[in-house]
Amino acid sequence: MKVLVINAGSTSVKYNLYEMDTEAVLARGVVERVGTAGALHSFRAGTAPKVEEAVVAPNHRAAIDAIIARHSQAGGVLENRADIRAVGHRVVHGGEKLVRPARITDDVKASIKECALFAPIHNPANLAGIEAAQAALPDVAHVAVFDTAFHAELPPSSFVYGVPYELYLSQSIRRYGFHGPSHHFMVASAAEYLKTDVSRLKLVTCHLGGGASVTAVDGGRSIDTSMGMTPLEGLLMGTRSGDVDPALGLLLARQGMSPEQVDELLNKKSGLLGLSGVSADFRDVEKAASEGNDRARLAIEVFVHRVKKYIGAYAALLGGADAIVFTGGIGENSARLRRMVCDGLVYMGVALDDAKNEAARPRDSGVGVVDVSQHRAPTKVLVVATDEERMIAREVVRTVVGPTAARTRVTGGTIPVGVSVRHVHLSRADCDALFGPGYELTMKRPVSQPGQFVCRETIDLVGPKGEIARVAIINPLRKETQIEVAKTDAFTLGINAPLRESGKLDDTPGITLRGPHGTVTIPKGVIMAHRHVHMSPDEAGQFGVKDGDVIRVRVEGDRETTFGDVIVRVRSDFALDMHVDTDEANAASLTNDSVASFDGRQ
Ligand code: ADP
Repeated sequence: MKVLVINAGSTSVKYNLYEMDTEAVLARGVVERVGTAGALHSFRAGTAPKVEEAVVAPNHRAAIDAIIARHSQAGGVLENRADIRAVGHRVVHGGEKLVRPARITDDVKASIKECALFAPIHNPANLAGIEAAQAALPDVAHVAVFDTAFHAELPPSSFVYGVPYELYLSQSIRRYGFHGPSHHFMVASAAEYLKTDVSRLKLVTCHLGGGASVTAVDGGRSIDTSMGMTPLEGLLMGTRSGDVDPALGLLLARQGMSPEQVDELLNKKSGLLGLSGVSADFRDVEKAASEGNDRARLAIEVFVHRVKKYIGAYAALLGGADAIVFTGGIGENSARLRRMVCDGLVYMGVALDDAKNEAARPRDSGVGVVDVSQHRAPTKVLVVATDEERMIAREVVRTVVGPTAARTRVTGGTIPVGVSVRHVHLSRADCDALFGPGYELTMKRPVSQPGQFVCRETIDLVGPKGEIARVAIINPLRKETQIEVAKTDAFTLGINAPLRESGKLDDTPGITLRGPHGTVTIPKGVIMAHRHVHMSPDEAGQFGVKDGDVIRVRVEGDRETTFGDVIVRVRSDFALDMHVDTDEANAASLTNDSVASFDGRQ
C-alpha cells in the first residue's frame, strides 16, 4: 500500500512516499517557492542521488501534480497516480475536536479552519495542501494527522491555564502541545528497543530541533508537554523565545509595538538567534561559543538549562522515568548537548556512557535507536532517529485499513485487540455522591464501542491494602456501579476480585470510591472482566459464531499466545474488538495496535 505524506507550508510542499507493506521510503522531497516563478523541486527517489529541477508551481495543486508526474515517469517509483492508495496530511493544530487522525471531510476541514485561531500561519497552509491534494487525487482516502493529537489526553491540571475558566469554556484557550508524531515515534521506538510494553513505561521525550519540546509520557499517554496553546511556550528554540513572563508582551505593546511586531519578536527574532546574535542554527551557535563568543555561550546555557529543568519537572510528575529519549536535529546529533543536559541528573538514575554518547549514530544503527547510558544505569538515555512522516503514514494505514500489528502474521479472520485498562462504570447515585448532585461527566475520548467514552473526570479506588489513583470512568452511566480491574490491581488494592462477565455482580466484593465531592463505599461491584470479543451480527455470521459462544483466539508476535475461554458478545451496535485486561495484554505483548486471529470455537 503506497501512502503519500504531505506537509504543506505557505510556500512549500514537503512530501514522503512510502510503501507501507515494508515501510520503505520510495521518495522524499520538497517543492519550494510555490507561488513564484522560481519554484524548485528537490527530491531523492529510493537510494538514487538527489535531484533538483525547476517546476511550474503557481499554487499547491500544481506543486502536487508536478510531484506525482515526476515519480510516475517511466522508471519512476510509481506506475501511475492511481498507485497512491492514501494521502496523509500533517496538520499542526487539531484543537479539542480533532484528537485522532481523521479522514478528511467537510466538517474536518471546517474544524481545521477554526483552529487557525491558534496556528494562523500553519493551519491555513495545511488546509491549502489538503484542498490541492484532494483535487489532484480525488479518488483516494485523505487523512489528517494532527501535531496536537498525541497530547489529547493531557489532564486538566496540565492543560488549563491559570486564567478565568470562561476563556477555556468559550474559546478553548488552553494548552495543547505539539510535535505529536515525533513524541509518539520516540515512545514507540523506546518501547520496542526496551522490549517493554508502552503501558509500563514512564518516559521523558525531548524533541530538540529548530522547534523544541519535552513531553512526559506515562504508559503511552502524554501527561504534560512544554509547548502550550501555540508552539511558542516552553524551551528556548531556534528563533522562538519559549517561556517568558506573559507581562513581557504587554510591556512591549505599551511601548508601542503592534501585536504583529510582538509576534514577530517572540517567534522569529528570539531564541538562539536573538540571544546569540549569531544564528538560529545550533551548529553555528556552538561554533561561535567555542570561539569565545559569550552571547553564543549564554544562548547554549539557557537552552540546556531549560531542557534540564523540564526533564526534572517531568520526572517529578511521572514519579521517576525509565528513560530520557532525545531526538531532533540537535537531540540526535549533538553529543555535547546531551552531555550537558544529563550532567547532574545522577540523582534520578541517569549515568551517560561518554564513549557511546560520542559515537551515537541512530540512523546507522539499523533499529534507529542507540542507548547511550551506562550498562547499570536505572534510567536509560536513548537517542532516536525520529521519523514523523513515517509515524503519520502508519496512522494513515491504521485509519484506512484498521489496526494492524507490523510484525504480526495474521491468518484467518482477524480481530482488533483493545486493551482494557482498569476502569469504572458509575451509577447515577454514585456519580452524584462522587462529583455532586446532577453532575454531567465530560468526554475525553471515545472508546471503540459506539456511544461510549472515557471521561475527563477520574476517581480513586481505596482498598483495604492500597489505593489506585486517577482511575478512568467510562460513560454512559449504568444501573449499577461496576469496577473492572486486572489481577495486579486487585493485589494492590487487597481485594479478591472474581472473574466475571460485565453486569454479573452478585457475590462480588465492594470497595471505597473517592471523588472530588465525596466518598462512597459500595457493597459489591469489583470484578476482573472475563475476556471477550464484541461483534455485530454480520461479523458473527462471518465467523460462524453466536452470542454466548466460547472461542479461541490466537495472537502472534514475540510472545505468541492462544487465548481460550473468550466469550462472544453479539449486538447490532457492537464494533468488532477483543477486550483483554492489562495483565493479559502484557503477558502476550499486546497493545491497542495488535490484531488477533479467530482460532475456532471451543
Ligand atoms: P526542524 O525542527 O526545523 O525540522 P531539525 O530537527 O532538522 O529541524 O533540527 C535543526 C537543528 O538541528 C538546527 O539547529 C541544527 O543546527 C541542529 N543540528 C543538526 N545537526 C547538528 C549537529 N551535528 N550538531 C548540533 N546540532 C545539529
